[in-house]
Amino acid sequence: MAEHEIESGGASPTLLVHGGAGVIRRDMDAATERAVRDELANALRRGHAELAAGGSALDAVAAAVTVLEDAPYFNAGRGAVFTHDGTNELDAAIMDGATLRAGAIAGVRHVRNPVLLARAVMEHSDHVMLAGAGAEAFARTQDIALVDPAYFRTDKRWQQLQEALQRVASGEPVNHFGTVGAVALDAQGRLAAATSTGGMTDKRWGRIGDAPVIGAGTYANAACAMSGTGWGEFYIRTAAAHAVCMRVAVLHQPLTAAARDVINREIPALGGSGGAIVLGADGMFAMPFNTDGMYRGHIRVDGEPHVAIWPDEDARAQ
Ligand code: ASP
Repeated sequence: MAEHEIESGGASPTLLVHGGAGVIRRDMDAATERAVRDELANALRRGHAELAAGGSALDAVAAAVTVLEDAPYFNAGRGAVFTHDGTNELDAAIMDGATLRAGAIAGVRHVRNPVLLARAVMEHSDHVMLAGAGAEAFARTQDIALVDPAYFRTDKRWQQLQEALQRVASGEPVNHFGTVGAVALDAQGRLAAATSTGGMTDKRWGRIGDAPVIGAGTYANAACAMSGTGWGEFYIRTAAAHAVCMRVAVLHQPLTAAARDVINREIPALGGSGGAIVLGADGMFAMPFNTDGMYRGHIRVDGEPHVAIWPDEDARAQ
């Protein structure tokens, strides 16, 4: 397990991103690894540009997640995993820690950037979560790009579904996951979190994971912001993101210990797995995970993106 390989202070604008904890070493060729690292660095630069221009933490997380949704290497937006029925159903959430306002969408099939629709729900509706066709009807009333479902398809994900269907048929477990997310601290000391996902390969019956569930995969308050990635059912059952941030805000537990206790102890003890990025109002952060790897990175005020994948790796400058 990687418990808290990164922790550093300094309450200046900071952005963390993740591209999912479902990374498996044997699945990764050198060209893919290079492309993934480049996209993580791009997301960090885009979010950092928002912060450097005086934008809010919300602007930064939305910008960073949009880059990762557009990249085909991550399980969100283009490149999302397939459902049992061969469709892509996308979930996303965003939360503003300063006001506790939040927006989320679940099970959409035509929204190019689900994080932007989640933000529109937060800012332009009276609701927190919209799902399915209703969410897409709302998207049509907003300036939100809709695309043909073929846009989300990549051959790699289609192949993963075929393999998953074969494994299920022979009684083997399947838990292909991914997800992208970002947490940010802006110059005014405000925190925000955002998460976007295609969920889990071979999901069915309208399954919704933790990413759009406020307090499970996504949460921010005045003290802490978290975006999770992993086996969503366990993040929902432990209210993982809320649990981490309340440990920090109310129990004044050190952020790295709070993140480790929930992500690397409580969730594995129940049989789950995954990771998270967690950022405090003092600029401290942690990126715990208990999988083979987690795509992740951070950027501080100097604008230098640092990216890592494997547990034994310090996030290095790109
Ligand atoms: N947590 C996501 C879900 O369960 C998947 C992931 O993060 O990989 O839908």
